[in-house]
Amino acid sequence: RTDEAPLLVLRHVTRRFGGVTALNDISFEVRSGELLGVIGPNGAGKSTLLSLISGAQRVSEGEILFAGQRLDRLPAHAIARLGIGRAHQIPRPFGRMTVLQNVLIPVHARKNEAPGRRSLSDDAEEILRLCGLLDRKDRQAGSLTLLDLKRLELARALALKPRLLLLDEVAAGLVGQEIEEITRLIASIHARGVTILLVEHVQAVVRSLARRVIVLDWGRKIAEGTPDEIARHPEVIAVYLGS
Ligand code: ADP
Ligand code: MG
Repeated sequence: RTDEAPLLVLRHVTRRFGGVTALNDISFEVRSGELLGVIGPNGAGKSTLLSLISGAQRVSEGEILFAGQRLDRLPAHAIARLGIGRAHQIPRPFGRMTVLQNVLIPVHARKNEAPGRRSLSDDAEEILRLCGLLDRKDRQAGSLTLLDLKRLELARALALKPRLLLLDEVAAGLVGQEIEEITRLIASIHARGVTILLVEHVQAVVRSLARRVIVLDWGRKIAEGTPDEIARHPEVIAVYLGS
């Protein structure tokens, strides 16, 4: 369920940290409604890519456009307000607050921008239901299991009602059934019309969710294609056998 218009465009994006080129001349598009996978070994530049899009880091060269508008000069809060949400590789909840309070904070921030008719807690509870956390809404966030922390990280990103969701290795640290559950949750978020850029190390997750994948290695884009094309790509095979 994608249309033709690219929602996100990266053109010749480079990011250097001192002598390290974390991303080197990266260009690609994410179409509206698409779920695009990004894979690559540790240190490939995946988290840096998401940081450049979310405004947590600045590009060294190149440009990033979102719905036709230049992003790469905007501060992170302005980018979030345009409708880009991010779930971090390490979940960042307020551990002493409840699950519900953790989601109310971003819901409240959004409603200040665009007040609606529904109450804050109705909005927050709907998101918690979607993420499978409603029955744990009064728990302290710090007491959650890793799977529930990942769900909460997704819920907090969704509370901003993003058009584009950046997911950074949400399956990392999960095993077996937990990976299936988080995969199902990502699929249901995508089915609600959210465009997703999915960074993953667990290839089974990308394979089951993405129709198109790009592969990063040492900051370069080495391949782009369907999961099957990627799995047959000689350079990709070499990178994963070597890692
Ligand atoms: P990945 O998420 O694919 O594991 P990262 O984007 O975290 O990779 O890192 C890519 C490269 O950039 C690595 O060599 C890393 O050490 C370097 N890097 C990332 N962030 C910083 C930073 N803030 N300062 C210096 N080097 C960084
Ligand atoms: Mg990373």
